[in-house]
Amino acid sequence: MDRVNDTKTALVTGANKGIGFAIAQGLGAIGFTVAVGARDDARRADAVEHLHAAGVDAFGVALDVTSDDSVAAAARTVEQTAGRLDVLVNNAGISGRTDDGAQDPTTLDLDVVRTVLDTNVFGVVRVTNAMLPLLRRAHSPRIVNMSSDMGSLTRQTGPILAAYAPSKSMLNSITTQYARRLADTNVIVNAGCPGYVATDFTGFNAPRTPEQGAAIAIRLATLPDDGPRGAFFDEEGAVPW
Ligand code: NDP
Repeated sequence: MDRVNDTKTALVTGANKGIGFAIAQGLGAIGFTVAVGARDDARRADAVEHLHAAGVDAFGVALDVTSDDSVAAAARTVEQTAGRLDVLVNNAGISGRTDDGAQDPTTLDLDVVRTVLDTNVFGVVRVTNAMLPLLRRAHSPRIVNMSSDMGSLTRQTGPILAAYAPSKSMLNSITTQYARRLADTNVIVNAGCPGYVATDFTGFNAPRTPEQGAAIAIRLATLPDDGPRGAFFDEEGAVPW
């Protein structure tokens, strides 16, 4: 991929490990300055150090996507450090508590649903709305929401996860609402699915590497100005809703 020709800044949420770290590394490798969004100070510092060692221009941004105050402070940090934001990757996500590997809808603990929605959906809205003023200052702003084909009502893949899967269906739906609202602007919003990736999230028991999972986010983060909007893609192409 070509290097970006001026210094653009990308904020990746949940960038301290897994797919988020790989997205940060991948965007850094093509010339982005990477704002490493992570909630834990030590894990964030460690990730920034590893990115620097890999030659990436990176800085840490304290960011817990479930906290209004933390998100507001993160926007101030990005503004003070970079002045604008070119790319936002909403990657931070949780599966929520499972029992025997499932979230059974017939015995569902609604607190688990609330917790999952707070991170996977409300967190995306919180961060996106806080960062939009900075994104609007960029020439070709891009927002990438890391979703999952488990949220596809057509595919219905994976185990029964009655909190996690609907959170990604709602994330997809919100992605289209943002795309509609921003249709007459230069802000392009899409959702991406990384495939089944070996991370903490999957107990490292999955066939794809974080770098493979990150590829779709990097593609959607670098779409041309006439690129698709309000769509849901994995590496193979459009994912059915
Ligand atoms: P990991 O569990 O490895 O990483 C999740 C990241 O999100 C961590 O950095 C974690 O931080 C962060 N995070 C969680 N909650 C918060 C919060 N409240 N505020 C800030 N950061 C938070 O997961 P993956 O890398 O596998 O997943 C990344 C994304 O990809 C998720 O949205 C997931 O749903 C999606 N996905 C993953 C798939 C897979 O196969 N792995 C498949 C499909 C989608 P911390 O270290 O502090 O917990």
